[in-house]
Amino acid sequence: MKLSRLASEITISPTFALNDEARLLRERGEAVINLGIGEPNNKTPLSAVIASAAKLTSGDVKYVAPDGMPSLKRAVIRYTEENYDRFVAPENVIITNGAKQSLFNIFYSILNPGDEVIVLAPYWVSYMQMIRMCLGVPIVVTPEDGTFTPCIDEIERAMTSSTRAIIVNSPNNPSGAVYPPDLIEKIVDLCEKKGIFMICDDIYHKLTFDNTEAPPAYRFTKNDVESSHVIVVNGVAKLYGMTGFRVGWVIAPRELVRVMTNVTVQITSGVSPVSQAAAEGALTGAQSMVAALRLQIQNNRDVLLQEMSSFNGVRLIEPQGTFYALPDVRAFGQSSVDVSKFLLKKARVVVVPGKEFGMEGHIRISFAGSVNDVTEGMARIKWALDPTSPNEIHIGDKRVVRDWL
Ligand code: PMP
Repeated sequence: MKLSRLASEITISPTFALNDEARLLRERGEAVINLGIGEPNNKTPLSAVIASAAKLTSGDVKYVAPDGMPSLKRAVIRYTEENYDRFVAPENVIITNGAKQSLFNIFYSILNPGDEVIVLAPYWVSYMQMIRMCLGVPIVVTPEDGTFTPCIDEIERAMTSSTRAIIVNSPNNPSGAVYPPDLIEKIVDLCEKKGIFMICDDIYHKLTFDNTEAPPAYRFTKNDVESSHVIVVNGVAKLYGMTGFRVGWVIAPRELVRVMTNVTVQITSGVSPVSQAAAEGALTGAQSMVAALRLQIQNNRDVLLQEMSSFNGVRLIEPQGTFYALPDVRAFGQSSVDVSKFLLKKARVVVVPGKEFGMEGHIRISFAGSVNDVTEGMARIKWALDPTSPNEIHIGDKRVVRDWL
């Protein structure tokens, strides 16, 4: 079949592929633990359920404004004021089908063929594919071995006359790193000096641990949203555990929002009002659930660190945010894909190979699920990888014999 070359080159998201494999194994009765997953296991906040149910039962579910319902935009404006100390106009806000569509729409709206976007490794897999889908060129900047924080000089060196943007994701998926304030400040300065966009993927911005704060880029610019080069992407998926509602948003200069709105009109006509009502309910309802979720995830992180402390051969930079850890497994002498396959086969635990995030030699472990899954999953990983482990264990009702990686 003759298909688009560009589309055919887009690879399936490895996280989705692994989730699928885990689901198939589970359906066959295998006791699989999914530490690959990128979503908290909480229930939808009640205020979101009530608001979306009210919208649905009104029977008035029609097309809405493509850039978002005015009431949700107002909630986003308040959120931006409270969390970013910035007052923005409705024309600076566009609501999208998840942060994913925010990002795609930004790339589509700012890039001409061959334009470059700087991506900081380790990076979230979709950036690379999205940039290519928009005919841009991702330029990867890798941090020094043993750290997950990029160096400003390396970033500056990667910039060319074709650079249009840099994408910054802190707290970072997949490493859990939170970039320090002085790095964020230097990136803001550099972007303003060079006239390029700083796209802040802030989807995990409140999920930080031990009083660490992810400093917002807006703090380091005197320019208003209109003249600043900062673009902020956010959404309800991670902070409220509302991944299935598919609501994200962008704060950007009006001109960019206008172009993004035109793009949206031609592609999706906007986001379902049922989902938008849910997002509004979450943003305007009791915020204690965000704090509770953060604490639950911090507790899971602590359990993971405890398990890691007795894990020979594995090095881990402590995650300061998100719900991911990216341990270095190079000591086992195998590729990250082979280690991940081995863990699924032997220990029935899903993890994601670091290769997918531009960090070969590492595996991404998610601690977003239940504390039992984190504890049991880590125990199985240690059993499978540690040569001093007992020869066999029971996983579910099956006896599993250990062999070497
Ligand atoms: N950015 C990052 C860094 C993410 O990890 C994710 C979700 N895995 C997204 C964006 C997309 O979020 P959403 O579900 O709102 O599309």
